[in-house]
Amino acid sequence: MNLHDRFTPGPEFGETLRAGARRAHETGEVDAASLEALRRSGLLGMMVHEDHGGWGYDAAAANAAIETVAADNPSIAIMLYLHCAVAVRIEQYGTETQKKHWLPRIARRGELVASAWSEPGSTADKRSLSTTAQRDTAGGWEIKGGKTFSTSATVADFFIVLVQLPPTTGTAHATGPTYGGSDQALFLVEAATPGVEVPPDALDMAGMRGSGTGMVQFRDVTVGEDNLLCSGSATPEAIQLPHRLGLTLGAVSVGLAQAAHETALAHARDRDLFDEPRFQRQLASTEIAVRSARAAVRDLTTGPAQDRVLRAYCVKVFASTTGETVCGTVRGLLGSAGYLHAHEINRISQDAEAVTHMGPPTHLCLDLIAGRLAPATGPDR
Ligand SMILES: Cc1cc2nc3c(=O)[nH]c(=O)nc-3n(C[C@H](O)[C@H](O)[C@H](O)COP(=O)(O)OP(=O)(O)OC[C@H]3O[C@@H](n4cnc5c(N)ncnc54)[C@H](O)[C@@H]3O)c2cc1C
Repeated sequence: MNLHDRFTPGPEFGETLRAGARRAHETGEVDAASLEALRRSGLLGMMVHEDHGGWGYDAAAANAAIETVAADNPSIAIMLYLHCAVAVRIEQYGTETQKKHWLPRIARRGELVASAWSEPGSTADKRSLSTTAQRDTAGGWEIKGGKTFSTSATVADFFIVLVQLPPTTGTAHATGPTYGGSDQALFLVEAATPGVEVPPDALDMAGMRGSGTGMVQFRDVTVGEDNLLCSGSATPEAIQLPHRLGLTLGAVSVGLAQAAHETALAHARDRDLFDEPRFQRQLASTEIAVRSARAAVRDLTTGPAQDRVLRAYCVKVFASTTGETVCGTVRGLLGSAGYLHAHEINRISQDAEAVTHMGPPTHLCLDLIAGRLAPATGPDR
């Protein structure tokens, strides 16, 4: 599967995204034109099987598409990445009824899904959440709690919600570093369900300001058994699925690094600096960095599958660190010209830093990598 098998955007797609990225960085809101372009592009269904109206892209093609979008509009790229990560979870863990219900909506109607996992006060490993799901008397579930830092929250059509289940005897608790747990479950919940409340304003973040990253309250939300995507040991497995497939936020960092590098090239062109040895060396170093990070992302989807999760954590750290390093080098190269508030490099740098904080953030990746290097690995790792 190649990137351009189905994704053939005209130049106006990139122009819309680039203009939208600039607007959104100022307003702190999702750029309507960029979101509309994303919905119309078909990219939201790129990882949905063709039987359900999607393109059937694998992780390699999806990473390439996400990198392309990120070079123009990183906020839209993280919305797309997180959306695809849910699409593949529905493909893998959904019942036939759930697949028929949710997948054509995202593939054919351009509906957008957001992940509501993080909570005020919860740690990056998503252990011990306060949001709970309890069985109700009608055989469904009642979800209660509050989420934060949910990308796309302000514009999402539905959510994948990570909840804590009531304690049961005999539930195995992993002892090593984990990402989610087998005492948790994932639910698919319509944004329009009574009791789901999303403040209209996104969080006032330093970067990724056009990603609609915000809060979601679940006030005694009643859903049916059909809304339960997975529970028990399938929950940490489902959380890990994008990493098992090789779908990575590192692709966003590569797009960001490319955008920063191109900013430096444009500066060198405008000021006729290509003959300056200092510029030559710095441009060469950012070229090497971008190519290395891109190669690492590509390598993730090739080679043996059995150590792909470990490699995915390594690539997330390497690509996001590279994104920040390239931005730092380019800022140094631009000097005071790049210190002006309106200069693109400031937005790109803030966006690049955001990726390091996104799940799993660097400190958790390091713990998960170390845990996998240890001789005995637990079920949730
Ligand atoms: C732009 C953006 C988009 C996001 N989108 C989503 C989303 O769509 N859905 C969602 O659910 N969440 C989302 N998040 C939240 C993200 O997934 C993080 O998990 C969440 O913010 C909590 O991580 P944390 O590192 O801040 O928290 P903590 O784990 O509490 O860590 C806080 C700080 O403590 C330090 N620390 C903690 N443990 C260690 C350790 N073992 N070693 C060293 N240092 C440590 C680190 O410096 C860390 O920065 C998003 C965040 C951002 C910034």
